[in-house]
Amino acid sequence: MSEGDDEDSPSRPLKVLVDHANPVQPSLCISSLSKIAPVVVSAIDKPGFFLSLKFADTKSFVDDLARLVKPVKNVEVASGGDIFVFPFDLEQKQAILKLNCINNLEVSCKLTKSESEFRGVIVGVPVSELDSEALLDLLKDQRVTHVNRVNKFVDGVQSPSTVVVLTFSQPFPYRVRLCYRSFVVRAYSPKPMQCSKCHRIGHTATHCNFPARCPSCGGSQPPAANCESKAKCLNCQKDLHLTGSPAYISHLNALKFARANNVSMFEAKQRLSTLRSSTQTPPSASGPAAP
Ligand SMILES: [Zn+2]
Ligand SMILES: [Zn+2]
Ligand SMILES: [Zn+2]
Repeated sequence: MSEGDDEDSPSRPLKVLVDHANPVQPSLCISSLSKIAPVVVSAIDKPGFFLSLKFADTKSFVDDLARLVKPVKNVEVASGGDIFVFPFDLEQKQAILKLNCINNLEVSCKLTKSESEFRGVIVGVPVSELDSEALLDLLKDQRVTHVNRVNKFVDGVQSPSTVVVLTFSQPFPYRVRLCYRSFVVRAYSPKPMQCSKCHRIGHTATHCNFPARCPSCGGSQPPAANCESKAKCLNCQKDLHLTGSPAYISHLNALKFARANNVSMFEAKQRLSTLRSSTQTPPSASGPAAP
């Protein structure tokens, strides 16, 4: 499904997108991202609350927030209806995390999921002996809270790989010890999911609503081991792209953005498309030509 990616090292600083000149109200401007990860503010027992709020009410909420913790760097209503509050500094962030009522609304203020979890990856863990539970037992005393051995697919057949993703309860160490061996822990950078049933990017077979397809030509006939039809891109059904599938590349970019900025994939895709449309010149004819 996914495995470690060597590009990112644990010490690499978070990417910061430069604010581009934008006359939109700073507090509601989507383009200015803080170096400090946001605090997620949700209305208690009111899922999606902030999406239904009128602009004027959102503004008075933001004004009251500023009254409580001083003006913040940026506020964004997230697509799920929570609010992302980007603080100027860690002191302000701590102050926001302590809030439980803003503008007479009961709220919970939390770290983003990616900030409250620390995930690293180790490679070369022998496959045969230990399942994830046994691995977790051996790693518990090294602050590992969850273990996930990555699967690999060879000719459509799934088998365990030697790559293991570890979740730590605090920033991960340089190495972990396992069975009298020492493994270097690298930052976990997931690769796009690919469905093993329809072979599209972005979901797994468990959550697939499409019919099964041939992994080579994308035809709807039962997957054949030796398909003789012309191989197609399984995301757009066009001829194979010389530079890789645009769907895969945009998904990978969104994954990297989500990780660098501590936001959800959904949020990352939205923001990247906003950034793309506001910072790029109209697309040139470099994309794959339609047949
Ligand atoms: Zn699928
Ligand atoms: Zn086929
Ligand atoms: Zn394609």
